[in-house]
Amino acid sequence: MSARRPEAVDPRGRYIPEAGSVLVPGASGNVGARYVQSLSARRASLMQEPVLVLNATYEPINVTAVRRAMVLLLKGVAQAEEVHNAEVHSSAHAHKVPSVIRLLAYRHIPQQSRALSRKNILLRDRNTCQFCGKIFPSSELTLDHVMPRSRGGRSSWENLVACCYRCNNDKGDRTPEEAGLKLARKPRPFTLHTSRQLMRLIGHRDERWRKYLFY
Ligand SMILES: [Zn+2]
Repeated sequence: MSARRPEAVDPRGRYIPEAGSVLVPGASGNVGARYVQSLSARRASLMQEPVLVLNATYEPINVTAVRRAMVLLLKGVAQAEEVHNAEVHSSAHAHKVPSVIRLLAYRHIPQQSRALSRKNILLRDRNTCQFCGKIFPSSELTLDHVMPRSRGGRSSWENLVACCYRCNNDKGDRTPEEAGLKLARKPRPFTLHTSRQLMRLIGHRDERWRKYLFY
């Protein structure tokens, strides 16, 4: 077995939640339009579908996209535990589209493993503006420093929140109190608990995930 790392893990051993853009409620656009997409576009969107990644011990550890999951399967790093009826064809073979895959070698997961990024902040806040409480597509959200940067506010899990442009504009260089705004909830780092909750949320779309997420 080679010592190469699975692609869902960055060089520091943290998990990269690359499926963020497809799994956030409200971010997937017009559902009706999905059915009139061309065949190749449908295939492309199929490749973006979320796949649950299990550790060798069957513990759910991440969500990735079909495209990335297929790479892990073809490299022999993971095996498919659950599949869709759909198939994708390579030059010589037809492959069932995976829904749940499992890493063949056990991977140690540090307790707080999520990288601080725009995508992860939006994921943590479920694409909800933390001031007005409305859900927006990712493209209509920005990150707000609760304590403004100009006043020493850091870029950290505890000081960054998802925010719509309107609220961001209203708030300006002020604290929420000064601007008369109230945070929906206190921002916290992404924990394994949060990740599980998100996996369950995503898993509502796919029955095959249930038994691994302890519904
Ligand atoms: Zn807002």
